[in-house]
Amino acid sequence: MLVEPIFRGGIGAANDKSRLVCNFSCGASSAVAAKMALAFRDRFEETVVVYADTGNEHPDNMRFLREIEEWIEHPITIVKNEKYEDLWDMWEQMGFIAAVAGKNKYYPCTGTMKKQPLQPYEVPTTDVKVIGYTVDERTRIERILKQSDGTTFWFPCVDAGLDKGDVLSVLERLGIALPVMYSQGYDHNNCVGCVKAGKGYWNRIRVDYPEAFARMADLERRHNTTIFSTDAGEPLFLDELSPTAGIFKEDQYNCSIMCQMVVDGLEAKQ
Ligand code: SF4
Repeated sequence: MLVEPIFRGGIGAANDKSRLVCNFSCGASSAVAAKMALAFRDRFEETVVVYADTGNEHPDNMRFLREIEEWIEHPITIVKNEKYEDLWDMWEQMGFIAAVAGKNKYYPCTGTMKKQPLQPYEVPTTDVKVIGYTVDERTRIERILKQSDGTTFWFPCVDAGLDKGDVLSVLERLGIALPVMYSQGYDHNNCVGCVKAGKGYWNRIRVDYPEAFARMADLERRHNTTIFSTDAGEPLFLDELSPTAGIFKEDQYNCSIMCQMVVDGLEAKQ
């Protein structure tokens, strides 16, 4: 089953002169979304699959990226903010991890290392942007549409009714080994040591990736900047974090009938 594209938002793209831009994040859902979108590649003037490298992701991600390139039969363009070697370098140079802006916290990592390098691939007048959101990410979808500058979006996994469990199952059924962090129970294949994650996650990083934990704890102290705060709003340094703080919930995914239907649809299209 392949579902006809449903385009959302946008100020005029999505025609036969459009460029199809698939955002690949080295996550399972972005891989499946790209595969489903590229099944319609004949309808677009140009197709691009693009990955923003933060330099802080798990080394197994490159293995996964190469396998996905083969599966989708399309090269993946890797872009990077050349001003910084990686996120560690960015935090060192900027001297902070997060800043409080009113009621919100501002994290420079996403904008600097992910959004900026992708800007040439976000042209509202020409580009249809494929994002691997799944049906369990409605809030994120609503937010991206609300904050959009006129970009036309396409969420193939949502249109096909796939949730996170389904996209993982699609890859497993096709024999593509998932990135290592999924097999360790992490629900996203983010940077090793994501500064937006919670205390339970960081306690798990302490066990699985002690070097990343120690490096972040050291960076926090040297720059007097912290990921967490106490209930009273005071800085809480990682080296003060109780090893029992927070909850790390290993994700238990179920897959629905939708994932087999998508696999069947993709195989029929080949
Ligand atoms: S995954 Fe986390 S640490 Fe990495 S860029 Fe995104 S928010 Fe920042």
